[in-house]
Amino acid sequence: MNVSSRKVVCFIGVGSNTGDPVQNCLEALDRLSAGETTEVLRRSSLYRTEPVGIIDQPWFINAVVEVRTTLEAHALLGVLQGIEERMGRVRAGKGGPRVIDLDILLYGERVIRDETLCVPHPEMHRRRFVLVPLMEIAPYVIHPVYGISIRGLLERLSDISTVIPLGAAATGR
Ligand code: AMP
Repeated sequence: MNVSSRKVVCFIGVGSNTGDPVQNCLEALDRLSAGETTEVLRRSSLYRTEPVGIIDQPWFINAVVEVRTTLEAHALLGVLQGIEERMGRVRAGKGGPRVIDLDILLYGERVIRDETLCVPHPEMHRRRFVLVPLMEIAPYVIHPVYGISIRGLLERLSDISTVIPLGAAATGR
């Protein structure tokens, strides 16, 4: 695994809409916290969100987590995909139902575009279910391609899909 001594702060999107989506998201967050190469710094509330794209599927639970890692970006993607696999994710096409989805939204200020990894995540600035939780924990972080803060991206957003915070009681934390 590609590990460096330099630590990078990144933001990871978490989503689920099958089985028990709240528990799935909490389990993914626990697995990220337990990892030796990823340290969770902050996590957003959980949000109940309307599907975007393929709309004929259950609503999602989404969150965003800030992580400090020693991993190079592709190695971090490998760790996230390992968590998805261990949680039973079957790859059933883009945008469809999933037990857990973990996306690298931002990896420090790096811009990466290759066959396996696009960072910043190419859809993050268009998605309310990403920007609302990100706004909760990182409103002043700047998108390294657009040079606009998360707050600014949210103000310019045309996506009007519904994003509702879950109460603390619902998440048990
Ligand atoms: P998805 O079905 O949305 O989870 O997409 C998974 C695929 O997207 C994987 O094959 C990854 O290699 C690719 N991918 C590209 N950029 C990213 C990113 N920033 N975070 C997670 N997966 C990514």
